Amino acid sequence: LKRYKVAMVGSGAWACAAAHMVAQNCAGDDPADEFADEVRMWVYEEDCEGRKLTDVINEAHENPKYLPGVSLGPNLVADPELLSTVADADVIIFCAPHQFMRGICKQLIGKIKPDAVAVSLTKGMRVRREGPQLISEMVSKYLGIDCSVLMGANIATAIGREELSEAVIGYSVRDNALLLRKLFQTRYFRVSLLADVAGAEMCGTLKNIVALAAGFIDGVGLGPNSKATVMRQGLMEMRAFAKALYPNVRDETFFEPCGVADLIATCYGGRNRLVAEEFARGMLDGRPRSFEALEADLLKGQKLQGVLTSNEVQEILVARGWETDYPLFTTVNRIVTGRNPPTDITNFMEVGKIAE
Ligand code: NAD
Ligand code: 13P
Repeated sequence: LKRYKVAMVGSGAWACAAAHMVAQNCAGDDPADEFADEVRMWVYEEDCEGRKLTDVINEAHENPKYLPGVSLGPNLVADPELLSTVADADVIIFCAPHQFMRGICKQLIGKIKPDAVAVSLTKGMRVRREGPQLISEMVSKYLGIDCSVLMGANIATAIGREELSEAVIGYSVRDNALLLRKLFQTRYFRVSLLADVAGAEMCGTLKNIVALAAGFIDGVGLGPNSKATVMRQGLMEMRAFAKALYPNVRDETFFEPCGVADLIATCYGGRNRLVAEEFARGMLDGRPRSFEALEADLLKGQKLQGVLTSNEVQEILVARGWETDYPLFTTVNRIVTGRNPPTDITNFMEVGKIAE
């Protein structure tokens, strides 16, 4: 039996909640164990009340800045050096905010084991002149290794409290997915396999735009009927957009944990919803605040993915002349870019008629 060495690239809230499960599953030195006891975590080094965050994590076995009160386990080692974190790894888990993933991948070219297995927990995409690139595609292209994804209704703080949650592993290589399920699955975290990497990843990426719409609904003081209306429309646009870019994406994927379940969790309990609600409130109260200011104030170092994703998706919609086919996505983008007020979220069906 091979003793797989595991590395986590990322140390934010979800990276730590996932590491809490992974480190538990790897703990122990029994020769029959499939995974090596030690789990390495790359930490973007920061100051933590006058000390290095990595030192604090290695002493306290938790990350007080991003997921306080959740044990990462004594077998997790925080490392500020990206290359030494992953050099010996057989399994690499990527969980950094999507805007940093290209820089990370570029640093790792030629620096990892050629037969390493990768999985991305990152929700987001990159837009290039030639078209979009999912994070799993970026990892595979830059590093030459297979990359699955793990996506679901996975609010980090709730998983840190070990509340029942579920996710899918979207895979191309089934043996890798079976290995990864052993790494992540716990009594409270149920993992199923789904042979649709792009579908699962597009769901995780696009629901962040719908979560902004849900936050605008909350911020302008509307209730559950209105929120359900934008969520249903959002789900339809998620499916249409995912299939327009990746024709092999399956309809059933949208009923999986990565689809409707993640959409519901994020539209009620996520950070994108929270920040969008405050953005709308500020506009209505005559005390407008930018998304950057709200992100810094409310999330304290955690990163908002929805606004970047809205801009990235809109670039594709504009380039392909698809804006009126995606009225909710387009309306959200007009609100985040300040061209329309948050109250216009209820007018999304009028998007073709709203003057630029
Ligand atoms: P986070 O938003 O809590 O924290 C931000 C992280 O980015 C911190 O670790 C910070 O140190 C790091 N960082 C800051 N500047 C950096 C730089 N220049 N280069 C590299 N890293 C830098 O992180 P998270 O919650 O783990 O999110 C990672 C991904 O997981 C995102 O794509 C997110 O959408 C996804 N996700 C998050 C949750 C959640 O509940 N938090 C759940 C599911 C998926
Ligand atoms: P937020 O980034 O909006 O908190 O979403 C978290 C998430 O993806 C839950 O699955």
